[in-house]
Amino acid sequence: MKPGAESIEQTATQAGRDESRPDGSAVCWKCGSFESEQLFEARDFDTALDSYSVRRCRQCDLCYTAGVSEEILAASYSRAYYGSANAKFLSVIEILVRIGHRRQAKKILELYRARPAASKPAGEAVSVLDIGCGRALLLQEFDRLGADCLGIERDEFPASQLQGVEVHSGSLHDKALRGRRFDIIILWHVLEHITRLGALLDELPRHLEPGGLLVISVPNFGSWQSRFFKQHWFHLDIPRHVSHFEHDWLKETLGSMGLEIVSRNTFTASQNMYGFLQSGLNTVFARRQNRLYQLLARGRGRRDWPVLIGWSLLALPLVTLAVLESLITGLTGSGATLNLYARYRGHDDETGAPDSNQVKAKQGKS
Ligand SMILES: [Zn+2]
Repeated sequence: MKPGAESIEQTATQAGRDESRPDGSAVCWKCGSFESEQLFEARDFDTALDSYSVRRCRQCDLCYTAGVSEEILAASYSRAYYGSANAKFLSVIEILVRIGHRRQAKKILELYRARPAASKPAGEAVSVLDIGCGRALLLQEFDRLGADCLGIERDEFPASQLQGVEVHSGSLHDKALRGRRFDIIILWHVLEHITRLGALLDELPRHLEPGGLLVISVPNFGSWQSRFFKQHWFHLDIPRHVSHFEHDWLKETLGSMGLEIVSRNTFTASQNMYGFLQSGLNTVFARRQNRLYQLLARGRGRRDWPVLIGWSLLALPLVTLAVLESLITGLTGSGATLNLYARYRGHDDETGAPDSNQVKAKQGKS
């Protein structure tokens, strides 16, 4: 879960499909199979009441949260998840988040331009689509660097939080976006929220220019943290995270979409270190899951400072361990966040050929 991790398509649950069976199994978000095995059960950190089964699909190997309905998701996306109007976290953390976005935007553009054939001619802006852009903070940095930016967010996302760049309310499947292609598409801590995962992955190549870059960041379900803390792992965040990704699954799936991973890492300092701290607290204080995170995420004036200081002191002994764990796992490729950069080889009949509407649109233009 990132600060500001907003999803975009979780409300579009596969309509009309019977999603749960009496035995507790549920449909895989990617392939639609009901065949799965349970990995473990975990509780919603927010309510500490509702329990969900985390399963692995026997058909496509995706790990996912079972039994999540649209009603459950709608209820669990509280206002607190989106934060207060201007800042979600303490100001100092907010500043660090913005610095991180600036560096991230520069890095993505450098990677896009690393292959000359993919680069735009001088003077032509690189087009960037951020799906689930949240407050569009990352896009604002791309905008400053001269990119042509578009964000997508859910209809119900508070409009007051969107600043600076063009944001489409809705989904990638909307008519308004049909036929539009981008040099860079970003799914930054979004994929794990998507219930129509198969449909979204099918759609993505239709919106990428050949040579374009797809940027994905997700919690790393194959990480050391995930394996060690299991149901207490901070980045599990069920039921909001409906899928749980591993590197090999993404590599294979992206490959079948015509995408090749050109860069990857598993280190995002804030996510990995905080993930360790909060997961450690969740393990020791199992009845008060995510308490520190909830206190940090509250708006100004609503914070209970003595309690916040108390929990921070409890977290203090874990800081050294968190730094060490994050560095070691980051270096060995088993860190808590999976950041992937994949180059699109181009489209043919199997990997995102323009559909009939796109062809018509192009014919209409010429
Ligand atoms: Zn599956």
